[in-house]
Amino acid sequence: MELVNIRTLSADDLKSSLISLGQPAFRASQVYHWLWGQYVLDFSEMSNIGKAMQEVLTQNFISQKTKITQLQKSQDETIKVGFETYDGHAIEGVLIPTDSRVTICISSQIGCSLACTFCATGLMKRVRNLFAFEIYDQVKLMQELALQHYKRPITNIVYMGMGEPLLNLDEVVKSIFLLHDEAHGLNFSYKRITISTSGIVRGIQKLTELKIPINLALSLHAPNNALRTQIMDINKSNPLEEVVEALDSFYNLTQNKISFEYVLLRGINDSLEQAAELVALCRKVPAFVNIIEFNRVEGISYSKSDTPTKTSFVTYLREKGITCKIRRSRGKDIDAACGQLANKLNNVNLIS
Ligand code: SF4
Repeated sequence: MELVNIRTLSADDLKSSLISLGQPAFRASQVYHWLWGQYVLDFSEMSNIGKAMQEVLTQNFISQKTKITQLQKSQDETIKVGFETYDGHAIEGVLIPTDSRVTICISSQIGCSLACTFCATGLMKRVRNLFAFEIYDQVKLMQELALQHYKRPITNIVYMGMGEPLLNLDEVVKSIFLLHDEAHGLNFSYKRITISTSGIVRGIQKLTELKIPINLALSLHAPNNALRTQIMDINKSNPLEEVVEALDSFYNLTQNKISFEYVLLRGINDSLEQAAELVALCRKVPAFVNIIEFNRVEGISYSKSDTPTKTSFVTYLREKGITCKIRRSRGKDIDAACGQLANKLNNVNLIS
């Protein structure tokens, strides 16, 4: 008989499973609390359920988990983490400390199917979606690292690592509920969780229907359909006007401004005409702009905009009243910066 991974079961599924195995319903609450509230994954350590119950669990379930395989620390204290999934695949996450925050960037898929032309992960094929428990594991394990290395807990979580979160919507939503769950999860505020999407209209609509008041970031990178389709194939099936409409409905739910992520690519999307188009988009949905510096990636031929061009672009947006932040690139020396996550942890110096 194939053992079921107990960590893929919801509280209700676990209850039905245990009842069908002749166990009382209250055992399910106890086991669920061990798994999620205590993060105790070994059945033999669940001390209040009795030996017989531990045996029932061992005979019917398995408790798989994600582990850390490699760590790499940048000169700026950013830490890139290599994880191994229960079935042997590599995924990555990043811890980014600032004076007031510790932000972690987590992955939602192994690889990515979308192949955006400026992104290192896009050079990999999608292997599979991550389960909610694997997303949760990244956070739990990085929480320990944050306490160990920065002596502070995580303050913000961004789904901006490998993969398109809204193409793994069910598991991503489950993971958000787990992170937010006060009794069994991390009691993490929705306000401190951000999903970054390349613009999957159906996924944005689903988040709106589910009324989950997290933050949304759109990987925009081009202010019109023609250019965006050229650099992000997903724009063909999810054109900008539909994305913006979906984002506007989401904004009406949360009242949180949408962030437009915009990586400046020399000679591609950094002209003042394009800045004007970007301003027009920002008038359609309440949004602010995060300007990202392009980081060189092997196999990708773009280069970053020069400083005067970047300055004029940003100045133009600000003069038009658009809130525009320049995101300082972190962890460049270890390929942990935006668009650089792609299993390059091999052959690096490891810490602790
Ligand atoms: S930018 Fe995001 S959606 Fe696009 S290829 Fe990279 S990981 Fe996938």
